[in-house]
Amino acid sequence: MLAAEPRGLRRGAPARAPAPARLTVLSGPSAVGKSTVAARLRRECPWIWQSVSVTTRAPRPGEMHGREYFFITEAEFERMAAAGELLESAQFAGNRYGTPRAAVQQRIDEQAPALLEIDVAGARQVRAAVPESLLIFLAPPSWEELERRLIGRNTESPEAVSRRLEAARSELAASDEFDITLVNTSVKDVCDKLIALMLAQYGNAGYGSAGHGDAGRDLAEQGSH
Ligand code: 5GP
Repeated sequence: MLAAEPRGLRRGAPARAPAPARLTVLSGPSAVGKSTVAARLRRECPWIWQSVSVTTRAPRPGEMHGREYFFITEAEFERMAAAGELLESAQFAGNRYGTPRAAVQQRIDEQAPALLEIDVAGARQVRAAVPESLLIFLAPPSWEELERRLIGRNTESPEAVSRRLEAARSELAASDEFDITLVNTSVKDVCDKLIALMLAQYGNAGYGSAGHGDAGRDLAEQGSH
């Protein structure tokens, strides 16, 4: 939960006139491919700023402190949460995750493109704190495919895999709460659609390459509800 009133972020107490920029949240079940999409976007679209979460889970091979996550202790996580330094936080499969508030607020103030890659519980908290944010749900092509990815990635203990599968079942049921659902049939396609959506909301004003704007508007019209 939010530990403190997020200054300038709540409906009813706008610190400024509504901005054209919308914070974008990419969510969906564990192992659906969110972090692969995020990594590709980091390479291809450095103009999209991505929040780096804090987590109490141990780094996986190849993960780097400050890139995929800030890997912190339980005590430091507690301190940040108590100090109101997290925009949202969640417990997931035995570990804690949170989005540092200040960096996101700065991007919102600058009206700069910003992306959060977080779980469904966190996405709900962001919607409450930043009602104008755009929530995108990344869905697997099928349940079998999600199971295959979760088991096949081989980074978790059998207990952790079954906790994640259990979480995935309820997370999948939450897709209706999102503005747009993208099915992860190909990482490239998802990235292209996400870029298009972000370019469309930022009015294509000098960010990234041209050519995605119309596709983004089409998608937003098809997918919004
Ligand atoms: P993983 O341990 O596989 O990196 O992440 C587990 C889940 O936590 C994923 O669904 C991921 O999107 C989510 N997650 C990562 N960072 C955050 C965060 O800051 N907040 C929340 N709520 N979830 C996060």
